[in-house]
Amino acid sequence: MTRSLASVADGLRFRTSAWIDGEFVPATSGRTYTSENPATGRPLAEIAEGGAEDVDRAVRAARRAFDDGAWSNASPSERKRTLIRFADLIDAHRDELAATETLDAGKPIADVRALDIPDTAATIRWHAEAIDKLYDQVAPTGPSAVAMIVREPAGVVGAVIPWNYPAQMAAWKLGPALATGNSVVIKPAAQTALSLLRIAELAGEAGLPAGVLNVVPGPGDVVGVAIARHPDIDVVAFTGSTEVGRSFLHHSADTNLKRVVLELGGKSPQVVMADAPPLDAIAPKILDAIFWNMGENCSAGSRLIVHRSRRKELVERLVAAATQEWLVGDPMEDETRIGPMITRGHLERVLGYIEAGRRDGARLVAGGRRVLEDSGGHFLAPTIFDDATNDMRIAQEEIFGPVLTVIPFDTEAEAVAIANDTPYGLAASLYTENLRTAHRMARALRAGTVGVNAYSEGDLSTPFGGYKQSGFGGHDKSVHAHDQYTELKTIWIDMTEAEA
Ligand code: NAP
Ligand code: MG
Repeated sequence: MTRSLASVADGLRFRTSAWIDGEFVPATSGRTYTSENPATGRPLAEIAEGGAEDVDRAVRAARRAFDDGAWSNASPSERKRTLIRFADLIDAHRDELAATETLDAGKPIADVRALDIPDTAATIRWHAEAIDKLYDQVAPTGPSAVAMIVREPAGVVGAVIPWNYPAQMAAWKLGPALATGNSVVIKPAAQTALSLLRIAELAGEAGLPAGVLNVVPGPGDVVGVAIARHPDIDVVAFTGSTEVGRSFLHHSADTNLKRVVLELGGKSPQVVMADAPPLDAIAPKILDAIFWNMGENCSAGSRLIVHRSRRKELVERLVAAATQEWLVGDPMEDETRIGPMITRGHLERVLGYIEAGRRDGARLVAGGRRVLEDSGGHFLAPTIFDDATNDMRIAQEEIFGPVLTVIPFDTEAEAVAIANDTPYGLAASLYTENLRTAHRMARALRAGTVGVNAYSEGDLSTPFGGYKQSGFGGHDKSVHAHDQYTELKTIWIDMTEAEA
């Protein structure tokens, strides 16, 4: 860790209350819960434990703000200016936010400083800059009528997000929802509320009117459910597991039919064809895809589907790099590339999958064990299983840890069939130097994002969402993300003269 960042970390003062109607407030119940530092297993902060009554308070503030129009009726260029100030403030507090995120979520500081926090600001800025450049439509009615097709903010947006990219996932919801004029009530994951609470305060400083953004920390089965069932929330945007995502559809159906947008899990394939680029060039990308963010990434490339002719050499390289280059350690240290798993429970879950891989007959060739136990943190060595088959649990179920499963194939048809043979369809990567193969297979892979000769989630200009059970109802990022936060209205104006 650089000296300057060390002093930032030492001087941190966490915001630990709920942010409702433009101010920090304790939970109505007065209760708090403990958030821990996953690198030490020790308590980090006591956070307000919100309940259904706090969600209700936040929704009332959000509705009042929406109805008074200070934000929802502001001109797009005004909203743009405020949100750009907000993004600038996030950038200006990059070190503070990065240190907070690393202490709270165990993510490597180098990644958080270079990627998570800058991307959080960039996401807000991108949607802000887009919003005064989008036109509504006039329908081709002829002179007897004027029919305008206009977009209006949906109203009050609820958002429930996971712990793996706490600031960034918040921005993926807040950027498009706020730019389009909505009010928002957002629940961070309980383990990782600190960065978002500070970000909300910065939004206030930037001039976002009170009540437009509200943050209610607390457990998912209380605060998340209260958001899912609230009768005055118009849209709910969720990122997390497929299992919990599914419950939001039930809650919507049982209550007010709020719109539901789900970004869910994945078991994303990385397909390496016989004519892939040189292995030196692609091996680092393959490892990035699975070990970035400890594999706690919905789009992690967790299945390596490799042509039999390239398998041995590629796996040797991957094993060497996994053990030499992917340093596991204190996430506050600059050279650390793999920090701890988010909780002890999650570490146990990942170790359970490693055990299942062994039992099912896959060959463990790297990692497979807990490390740095003395730290009290939840560390795991980067792990590779070779010679797996796609029916094994480690090939079918989302592990959400640094575990790569290697599956060999012989023909292109077989590669596509294996790649598509999961309930998920979030992302895929494909390595080939043949242009026709690239186009043909990019179409055949059933995934929301296909990276060719790259592991990629696209950039802010491209939509991100899942096929099959990886997503529902919309996308994050790009102007397509505006769709789910807006209503389409037809205004039909009769132009015929009334008969005298
Ligand atoms: P999770 O258990 O589904 O939690 C996600 C959020 O939902 C958290 O805020 C959680 O609250 C809340 N929650 C939990 N139970 C709930 C319930 N019964 N009702 C309403 N809300 C509830 O997922 P996770 O383990 O935190 O995150 C990992 C998952 O997220 C993985 O499956 C991953 O693939 C997925 N993910 C997807 C994307 C994407 O864009 N597609 C991105 C990142 C992650 P608490 O945790 O505070 O209890
Ligand atoms: Mg924490």
